Order: sequence, then C-alpha cells, then structure tokens
Amino acid sequence: MAGEPQADCLFCKIVAGAVPATVVRETETTLAFRDINPQAPTHVLVIPKAHHPSAAELAAQAPELAADVLREVGEVAAQEKADSYRLVFNTGAAAGQTVFHAHAHVLAGRGLEWPPG
Ligand code: IMP
Repeated sequence: MAGEPQADCLFCKIVAGAVPATVVRETETTLAFRDINPQAPTHVLVIPKAHHPSAAELAAQAPELAADVLREVGEVAAQEKADSYRLVFNTGAAAGQTVFHAHAHVLAGRGLEWPPG
C-alpha cells in the first residue's frame, strides 16, 4: 500500500534507525540527513518518512506530505545558511535515481552550473 515501509528500501531503513545517518532536521513526517557521497559542501537529502517511490508519486498519493518535504527544503537551506541552492529530484534510473524512495537533494556551498550534467 502507498506509504507503507518497504523492507528492501535503504531510506525506510534510515527512517527506522536500522541504518545510521547524519540527521540535520526531523519533523513528524520528514527526515533530512547528509548525503553519504556529497557533491557540494552542503548536500542534504530531504525525504518523507513514508515510502513513496518518486517525487511525482509522492505528490499524487500524498500532496500534503509533498508540501511538508518542500517546506523542509527551505528550513534546511536556512539552517545551512544557503542563500542559493539547487533542489534536485532525480526521477528514473536514466536520470540518476538510485534510491526509489522520494528524496530532494539540497545542494549548496559552491558554484552550480547550468545546464547540469
Ligand atoms: P539518487 O541517486 O538521486 O537516487 O540519490 C540517492 C542518494 O543517496 C545518492 O546521492 C547517494 O550518495 C545517497 N546515499 C546512498 N546511501 C546513503 C546512505 O546510507 N546515507 C546517506 N546518503 C546515501
């Protein structure tokens, strides 16, 4: 069922505390933690605690939760003192998605080129 924890999902394991993470913010519905392989001085992942495979499915299945995630992106950026940042939702394997639990990458602290690679 949409939103239920998945036994084989890395980010569900982080939410459950079964896999350690460097948590920077937590709310009732969301978790924000540092990416294990940072691509910028600030690289934080913001996730819904409930399992939804992608950002689009999250928005379709649980729009209030999608709003919670976006609100937390702003809180993380403020906490990291990032005036400018890049928000990325890789969606689909060909676009670089490797963990199929919706997550926002918050990248800041260096110049970010456009178009992205
Ligand atoms: P994706 O490639 O957009 O799906 O992003 C998944 C992100 O999760 C990658 O940037 C990984 O570096 C990151 N990642 C993988 N395992 C862990 C972990 O255990 N803790 C924190 N970040 C992780």
